[in-house]
Amino acid sequence: MYRRHLVVLVCLVLCCVGRVRGQTTSGRLTVIRAGTLIDGTSDSPLHNKLIFIRGERIEKLAEGGAAIPAGAKVIDLSSATVLPGLIDSHTHMFLWGEDPAKGGYDANILNAGIAQRAARATAAVRRALEQGFTTLRDLETEGAGYGDVEIKAAIAEGTIPGPRLFVVTRAISTTGGYNLEDYAPELDMPKGAQLIDGPVEARKAAREQLDHGADWIKVYMTHRSWVDRAGNLVSQPTLTVEELQAIVDETHGWGKKVACHAYNGIGMQRALDGRCDSIEHGLELTEANIAQMLKQGTWYCPTIVPYFQNWAAEDTPAGKRDRKRAEVHEPSFKKALAAGVKIVFGTDMGGIPWSEPEAEEFEYMVKYGMKPMDAIRSATSRAAEMLEMKGELGVVAAGAYADVIAVPGDPLQNIAELKNVRFVMHNGAVFKNELGR
Ligand SMILES: [Zn+2]
Repeated sequence: MYRRHLVVLVCLVLCCVGRVRGQTTSGRLTVIRAGTLIDGTSDSPLHNKLIFIRGERIEKLAEGGAAIPAGAKVIDLSSATVLPGLIDSHTHMFLWGEDPAKGGYDANILNAGIAQRAARATAAVRRALEQGFTTLRDLETEGAGYGDVEIKAAIAEGTIPGPRLFVVTRAISTTGGYNLEDYAPELDMPKGAQLIDGPVEARKAAREQLDHGADWIKVYMTHRSWVDRAGNLVSQPTLTVEELQAIVDETHGWGKKVACHAYNGIGMQRALDGRCDSIEHGLELTEANIAQMLKQGTWYCPTIVPYFQNWAAEDTPAGKRDRKRAEVHEPSFKKALAAGVKIVFGTDMGGIPWSEPEAEEFEYMVKYGMKPMDAIRSATSRAAEMLEMKGELGVVAAGAYADVIAVPGDPLQNIAELKNVRFVMHNGAVFKNELGR
């Protein structure tokens, strides 16, 4: 009797551990029946497919009529559209869409302690996963130090649910190149990024961040922006080409890449001359910028939605700037798209409250001329390519991680359907299922 209780107890404990870790039993076969499958790479959707999943990987795809071994767990998504888990290439889990009326960005750093910020980040990553984003490239902690490395570790050890994370830690800018600012000069205010001056400090900052677990390095190549007398958007450049080159050289030596926040103008030119791997935002791209991006294979992560949020009053300098930023973004996106620049999906969530739908960016991409299938690829196989995870992420195919989502409708007819993710599998474990049986 005692022994039987012990066996039951051990089973329960093992079961619970399995649950907490969000893992499937490694040998157990799960089969998803996909009515329509957008596999992340093909030009057209596939129909009536079976996806065989063992452990955290996809074992194989088969036709709908293929035999399913006895004992396999079957998830019926035959009336849904199945896709690879989505990749958001620009998020900030440590930002909270700070309401200007509640103190905005500064309050986040000045009033919230690290535990509160970690709690918010925990909620943010869960929210991303619930919406079908199974991978994030999170582009800096905004004063929360190396907290992203810790959240990533907490997810990996199964303590909290969340997507696969690629993190950059503190980010790098220059003196005069990042918040907090506009306080009394006598005060030594904390900054939302690591500030450097000169190539030696630049390289040292990159080394520190890489040493502490950065998967990418993030650099701010422009900071303030305004509209000049001629009505043009102008952005303050930050790092020199020499400073950026030191960072890029160091980071590439570690086999990693550099993401550069750059709006336009001098800072954009320096970002490209210094060989950034991805341009973030890229509000105003000239023909020459686009030609250089094509030549160098630079990625473009536009993040359109945030520039439509929180506009200041129309007749103020900030209000004019806010409207101009959105106005120049659209033609830049269209030119880059037409020229064949490699575009990835990114939202700047965190800059936007995490309560907003992460998939809204798709609607703008499609409105600006991107085909729905290409918009989906920008958040799946294309982003995986940028992350050096081609074939492993952003695709439903043999050998890939079993990151699989589903929506009830057809996102190729209505891209907004991607706001309605009702099934999420991450690393072979079902995180959410409001569709299948
Ligand atoms: Zn950002």
